[in-house]
Amino acid sequence: MNLVNDDVITEKKFVHNFNGGPSILPKTVFEQASRSVLNYNNTGLSILEMGHRTKDFQSIMEEARALVRELMNLDDEHEVLFLHGGASTQFMQVPMNLLNENETAAYADTGVWSAKAIKEAKLFGNVDVVCTSKESNYNFIPKNFAVPNDSKYFHITTNNTIYGTQWQSIPAVSIPLVADMSSDIFSRQRDFNSFALIYAGAQKNMGPAGVNLVVVKKNILGKVKRALPTIMDYRNHIKEGSMLNTPPVFAVYVCMLTLQWLKQQEGIEAIEKVNNQKAEMLYQAIDNSALFKATAVKEDRSKMNVCFIIKDISLEKKFLNFAEQNNIYGIKGHRTVGGFRASIYNALPVSSVEYFIDVMKEFEKNH
Ligand SMILES: *Cc1c(COP(=O)(O)O)cnc(C)c1O
Repeated sequence: MNLVNDDVITEKKFVHNFNGGPSILPKTVFEQASRSVLNYNNTGLSILEMGHRTKDFQSIMEEARALVRELMNLDDEHEVLFLHGGASTQFMQVPMNLLNENETAAYADTGVWSAKAIKEAKLFGNVDVVCTSKESNYNFIPKNFAVPNDSKYFHITTNNTIYGTQWQSIPAVSIPLVADMSSDIFSRQRDFNSFALIYAGAQKNMGPAGVNLVVVKKNILGKVKRALPTIMDYRNHIKEGSMLNTPPVFAVYVCMLTLQWLKQQEGIEAIEKVNNQKAEMLYQAIDNSALFKATAVKEDRSKMNVCFIIKDISLEKKFLNFAEQNNIYGIKGHRTVGGFRASIYNALPVSSVEYFIDVMKEFEKNH
């Protein structure tokens, strides 16, 4: 039996993957990860059966953390951690570590994920929702709002995966800034050092599901009075080099491969140009179409998740079927909003966007 059947990898049906998450990763990453499942670096061991305290895994973790530091251009005040639990765990771990019961944190409510973060924060202290776009089904990013200076921190969701909106510029505040960057991490330049805490579930733009990236400024920690469970205290993870307990080894490894790929692409600045190009092409095609319509306010449109609808709703199912017949995967809108969502993350090639636009045009011609 030939376990390493390269045909499985190289000659599979070609699918253009626009899924919102878990999402497309670079093909070379899948290939390398597959090889390592069978034989990691000629050790005779699968990456899945190696001890996490071994030199081999230690160096994977170190390289993954170092690549994050390098790609984000982080200063020494910031620590990089890979933690379990998905971004949803950070919804509670952040306030647990940063917010005392009698204190208030400011939150921007820009979508389902923000709302979930708000709900969890309320378990630990007071929450001041300083702005919201809920009344218009989250189709824009609020502009004129004030963040009280005595708030403990201000939390934003940089990219709203479900509604296809994105903060194009980060609001200037004098208090610690916390961001859920799950769906636009490593996709565009930001002044990452200006954030006190950044978190991101890996499965949108960085790796497979099962791990979270946390970038935290050390001096904001250790200020809450409550007793923290060992595993929830960021300081313990920092002390142990992100190896407090068994890390999600495979997920961290695949993140490392993706970050290596990103470095080969010349980093965030270079991928941002490609991402801008992909987004521009796709929005333009939608704007020029008589059949489709983008849902987010123009200036706030996400460059990662392009949300749109079909004006004649009776054609919705038909378009989904047509897309599927043409090997386009994952464009159904989130179950809470309907319509369509084309996620165009880092690993999605420009050619897939061009192809998708052709498929849309073809459909429009016939309807
Ligand atoms: C997907 C997503 C989450 C939830 O991530 P999990 O890893 O499933 O907990 C949170 N925030 C944003 C912005 C997301 O896109």
